[in-house]
Amino acid sequence: MRTGNPIRIKNPDEIEILREAGRILAVITNELKRSLKSGVKTQDIDRQAEELMAVHKVKPAFKGYRGFPKSICISLNEQVVHGIPGPRVIKEGDIVSLDVGIVFRDYFSDTAVTVGIGRIHPKLQKLLEVAEKSLYKGIAQAKVNNHLSDISFAVQNFVESNNFAVVRDFVGHGIGRALHEEPEVPNFGPPRQGPILKEGMVLAIEPMVNLGTWKTRILEDGWTVVTEDGYASAHFEHTIAITSTGPEILTK
Ligand code: MG
Repeated sequence: MRTGNPIRIKNPDEIEILREAGRILAVITNELKRSLKSGVKTQDIDRQAEELMAVHKVKPAFKGYRGFPKSICISLNEQVVHGIPGPRVIKEGDIVSLDVGIVFRDYFSDTAVTVGIGRIHPKLQKLLEVAEKSLYKGIAQAKVNNHLSDISFAVQNFVESNNFAVVRDFVGHGIGRALHEEPEVPNFGPPRQGPILKEGMVLAIEPMVNLGTWKTRILEDGWTVVTEDGYASAHFEHTIAITSTGPEILTK
């Protein structure tokens, strides 16, 4: 993994902007969650995201990123991440992942959540619970003097003890002045490896948890990542800052 020179943000003015970027993103994402219903097209959710971002005077971080055509990523069922909003209609029993990133006064925040539509299969319900909990297990390790991979290990250990799998091909990342900064934050690996965590590091921690195999492939659109076996996948993400008193979740 790439782990070189994690950026540290310690200037109180910058931290305040990051807090505001996280707060606005949480408000927008909660609003979008409420719109996820059977019969809605994913492109309608994307349009709503654009409107909400305009209202809050922030920009979509993903639009145009390496050519990504839409404002947010929406990934259904066996889609892991990077789904492109379009005419697909959401239906009862689906699980829908929203991945939303914004730029506020040149600072970035990034979050993701997976939601079940109506009544979902109990196995999917369990997948959502374990994936969300694994994010918090990882966040709990994001403290001064831990190693980076203590986060990774906590996520993997929790997920695998619940008989699910963590995606290897996509990882979390540093964030703040850019969408993707050093270090990479894998959701797997042994503890006590990589850089030592310090106050001022800002990380996007984002476990992607699969019902079946951890292996993935990319569809012909060049973006949409799906599980190799077609079983479902869930994704949860927060942007967090490491402070002297522990992790601060910015996107809450
Ligand atoms: Mg991210």
